[in-house]
Amino acid sequence: MDTCQRCREHGFSMDLKDGVCHRCFLRDTDNQKRPVTPFLMSAENDMDPGIVPADLPELTQVEEMVIARAHVQMLVKRVRGHQYHYTGHCVTFMQNIVRTVDVLPSLPSELDIILLQPPANHADDLRYRRQFQADFRVRRQHILTWLYFLKTNHPGYRYITISTDRIAALPVDGDVSSSIIHIADDTLGLDGPIELADAPPTSQSVVLSLDQDTTEANLILEEITGRRPPPTGLPAPSIQHTPIDEASGREQILSLAFPTLYPTGQADLNTPRLRNVPLKDYARHLLCWHDMRFAQHARWRFFIFNMYMRQKARSTAQFYVSRTSNIKDLTREELMEALNTDANLLPQIVRQGALLPGTRPYWRNRGGSLQAHARFLSPSAAPVFLTLSCADMQWHDLQRHLPRFTDYLTGDDRTRQRIVWSNVQDYPHLVAHYLDIRFRAFLKHVLRPYLGITDHWIRYEWQHRGSGHLHCLFWTESSPPLDPLTDEQRATFAEYWGQRITAWNPDQLRHPDTRNPASLAPLDVTNTSDQFAAFLNRLQLHSACRPSYCLVTNKKGETSCRFFYPRPLAQQPVVTKEINHRDYMFAPARNQAILNQCSPVVTMGWMANTDIQPSLSLHAVLAYLAKYVSKPEKSSVSYTELQVCP
Ligand SMILES: [Zn+2]
Ligand SMILES: [Zn+2]
Repeated sequence: MDTCQRCREHGFSMDLKDGVCHRCFLRDTDNQKRPVTPFLMSAENDMDPGIVPADLPELTQVEEMVIARAHVQMLVKRVRGHQYHYTGHCVTFMQNIVRTVDVLPSLPSELDIILLQPPANHADDLRYRRQFQADFRVRRQHILTWLYFLKTNHPGYRYITISTDRIAALPVDGDVSSSIIHIADDTLGLDGPIELADAPPTSQSVVLSLDQDTTEANLILEEITGRRPPPTGLPAPSIQHTPIDEASGREQILSLAFPTLYPTGQADLNTPRLRNVPLKDYARHLLCWHDMRFAQHARWRFFIFNMYMRQKARSTAQFYVSRTSNIKDLTREELMEALNTDANLLPQIVRQGALLPGTRPYWRNRGGSLQAHARFLSPSAAPVFLTLSCADMQWHDLQRHLPRFTDYLTGDDRTRQRIVWSNVQDYPHLVAHYLDIRFRAFLKHVLRPYLGITDHWIRYEWQHRGSGHLHCLFWTESSPPLDPLTDEQRATFAEYWGQRITAWNPDQLRHPDTRNPASLAPLDVTNTSDQFAAFLNRLQLHSACRPSYCLVTNKKGETSCRFFYPRPLAQQPVVTKEINHRDYMFAPARNQAILNQCSPVVTMGWMANTDIQPSLSLHAVLAYLAKYVSKPEKSSVSYTELQVCP
């Protein structure tokens, strides 16, 4: 990876020339090829957040919230037990109202954290206590050190009052989880022995809120405020409330909410600048900041992303209102009324929503253009569907770019697993960027020449943890046409794809290696059928059908696997109705009923689970596109409301 001397960003393929990255070259050069100053991402333009002085102690998330002047999110932490391990899960809710306080520190009981924990009889269990000690640790001296530093060095903290009574109410070094709002969750239990050392770190996720008035967070807050009286005898913090959308324009909220990231208050989003920096570029710049503290921070990235989505939603709404002059002066209530009575208004609004990635109208729009694309290109050549998973916990080539790679190389399995898990959690931007680079290289150097691809469509999907996979649709130059009608045409089709796709396992009984083959270093991958068998046995088996995953029940009450496993064995590739009785399907030669068919070239090159299926009919292509490739993200209440009234 590279680091640019000018913007101090750190990342993949930055195309450095004399130490300056290509992005800097583009943003700091005018159309006469002369440099533009101050440089956009420079300290002169207040885009340098500095480094955190080494003598300042590292704070836990709770400690940072204790010293924060602005509170913008609510955390819900869930602790759960499992037979073999337990995980902590932290969900971030966005708040619409920023609270700013002038008297610090805040007390743990005043923080917007809710702890979902097991019933009381389990809560004192050593395993939970151990996790709480890490997550809810507060050290009085660390808080003091930071507050004095901030008061001296951070303009936003200059006039704060550091309350000695409040300081005294903090533990010297202790777990404050008992002061946090608790909700006992009966579904959480401890069901068996675990080893303490196996507990993986907490994973993070977020609930996005685009709704401008009420969020889940506000509702829960309303619900709980009554149960959270301020402690008696302590000076109450003086609290201001600012709606977050206004706050995003003027006040320097980010540096007050995340003081450990902005120790001197520099590089806040809302600092007046000589050269304007759009929010998207601002976020990218800090996400790539060379010490990676922004990328690693458990809450900052969610807040910035939420801000970005709000901004997009707002600009979409403005676009709509300015164009439709006859309703531009309506209040929200009048607009709702108009929408209920005038059927012509809603489609206009929905169309505007197509500009906002992730919404239902957006995907409907995308799905529509892809269907047109498919009709135009087909049926002269049958397209092939390819799904590629991301082995982000395995790929050696990815791990070598992430921190602690030397420990990773020399450590035992458990050490390796811990390093990889925390890296994948801490640096999701690097993992996502790596996946994109790997896919582009794979498309260019392997897929395109091998399959003879002429056109393609791809979609990235991200699971909750952030792990990605790709849905691809490739049109190729030499594949047989769609909708083969005769036995002869079907035989040609089967023969063509049978040369590229197989379900023939060279060694079903091969013993698994101790090491997952997806984590092999490039030089350790051998081009042999034994290696291929190792990949198949580890990555391509549909070994158990599960109700939550693939088992479906039809009207007659019969249960079957929606992926048609186990499948019939076959000596030769065929086009057959034997698998899916409603339609013809291509089936490769097969000697193992539960093997997920694959292309050996793709499996050996991509080194993760893949799925490949050529399509037999235009009807099937369109159905697949509608169902899988362009399906909308799962909609939340906020998204749904957004589509009705942005
Ligand atoms: Zn640069
Ligand atoms: Zn199944």
